[in-house]
Formats: sequence, structure tokens, C-alpha cells
Amino acid sequence: MSGQFSGRRALVTGAGQGIGRALSIKLAEMGAQVFALSRTKSHLDTLKAECPAITTVVVDLSNWDQARQAVSALTPIHLLVNNAAMASLDSVLEAKPEDFDASFNINVKSVMNVTQVVAGDLVARKQKGSIVNVSSQAGQRALKDHLIYCSTKGAVDMMTKVMALELGPKGIRVNAVSPTVVMTAMGKIGWSDPAKAGPMLARIPQGRFAEVEDVVNSVVYLLSDQSDMVNGHLLPIDGGFLAA
Ligand code: NDP
Repeated sequence: MSGQFSGRRALVTGAGQGIGRALSIKLAEMGAQVFALSRTKSHLDTLKAECPAITTVVVDLSNWDQARQAVSALTPIHLLVNNAAMASLDSVLEAKPEDFDASFNINVKSVMNVTQVVAGDLVARKQKGSIVNVSSQAGQRALKDHLIYCSTKGAVDMMTKVMALELGPKGIRVNAVSPTVVMTAMGKIGWSDPAKAGPMLARIPQGRFAEVEDVVNSVVYLLSDQSDMVNGHLLPIDGGFLAA
């Protein structure tokens, strides 16, 4: 298991904190050459100190040209995880146009940008790859005050399917994971208030939120050759929330 990804080059976006950070460390432990891309240098510096084998890349993905240039310099990338995102929470009547633009820019448009560079390069080299987009249960269920966030993740879900359709014949699989709440910095924005967390927990058949490791393990499966016939799938990591 430890050398499963040796010889593969992996790019994880949003790797400074939370799920992306843990995933970067896991992929490095499994033998991949990992490029951890994120926005805040100090977060990446502590990641580098924790796992020196990882190469860190400081880029704000909301800048289309800079992101494209930075990712181009890392190719070939055989394993891509589009994980970076932001959560801006407001009611339908209060949601702001600037939050809509910022959220769609990072959560959706940057997925297109990074994937175009990585997949375009693999196609030119005639090499195989696996891409995982980190979506959310919010892409498939309405959540109060999540107008913008839910909309971005719904877009990521359809983007995943179209990418799978077009890139599958070229040897590149594209799947998504759809986690329930994970208590990262982002998870705390929406769910640290027990008045909100309680009713959400009551809707999860397994009775708990997801741990970072739950998400990491599923992403690793989708990146690996063990899921070689899985393409265009949205894998819930939700303790049964979406089934209920
Ligand atoms: P965190 O907020 O803990 O981490 C997000 C990471 O993305 C940070 O490292 C952040 O950088 C980076 N990032 C944000 N914006 C940009 C940008 N413009 N350019 C580059 N990097 C950026 O979030 P999570 O780990 O919780 O979330 C990871 C993924 O999981 C997201 O796609 C999220 O939507 C999804 N998800 C999360 C859930 C949850 O409850 N936490 C539930 C379902 C899905 P910086 O270091 O500067 O903060």
C-alpha cells in the first residue's frame, strides 16, 4: 500500500488546511510526488515542515492566468484533486453578488482552469490520469443559508460528469466525492452552532459528521487503479445522509 502511487505526480489544490492538507500527506506517504497548491504561504510552510517530501506552490486560484501558469509548470500531473473552495453563507434574500462571483470563481471556474491544464497535457502526452473533484452533499440537497455554496457544488457535480464523458475516452477518469459536514475551518463556519449541528446530525443515519480521514480514504480509492472502471461517479461520504 505504501508505494501504491510511486512514479505518479499528484496535485492537490487547497492543500494548506483541512482535507487537502491531510490528503497531500497521505499521497506522499503512498509514494506519489506531491505538489500542494494553496493560497496562504504560512499554511504551506507548516505543511512543508511536517512533510518535507511535498513541494508547495503558493497561488491564489481566483487569478485565472497565474493559476494556469503555475499549474503548467508542474505537468505532467497524473493524479489531480480539485479540493480548494470557499463557503459564503447567507439567506436567499441576503446573498451578495460579490460573494457569488468569488465563490463561483474558486469553487467552479478554477476547477475548469486547473483541469484544462492538467488533462490537456496528459492528452498531448497520451498518458492516463485520474481526477477527483471535492464536491459536497450540498450539491444534491438544499441547505438553509447555503444558496451560493449549494449552487457551486451542484455545478461541480455536473462539471464532473461532463469531464468524465469527454476525458474518459482519452484515458482520464473524473469522479467527485460528496462529503457531509467535516469540522475543518470551513465546516466550523456553518456548523459550530449546536442549534444548527444538532438537526443536521439527526439527518445522518450514522449519527456523526465525517472525519477528514473518511474523505481522504475515499479520494485515495478514486485516484487509484482499484477504481479503474469508476468514471463520472459522485461518491457520498455522508453516513447515509443522501440516501435518507
Ligand atoms: P478548509 O477551509 O479547511 O481548507 C480549504 C483550503 O482551500 C485552504 O487551504 C485554503 O487556503 C484553500 N483555498 C481557498 N481559496 C483558495 C484560493 N482562492 N486559492 C488557493 N487556495 C484556496 O476547507 P475544507 O478542508 O473543509 O474543504 C475542502 C473541500 O471539501 C472544499 O471543496 C469543500 O467545499 C469541501 N467540503 C467541505 C466540507 C466541510 O464540512 N468542511 C463538507 C463537504 C465538502 P488558505 O490556507 O488560504 O485558507
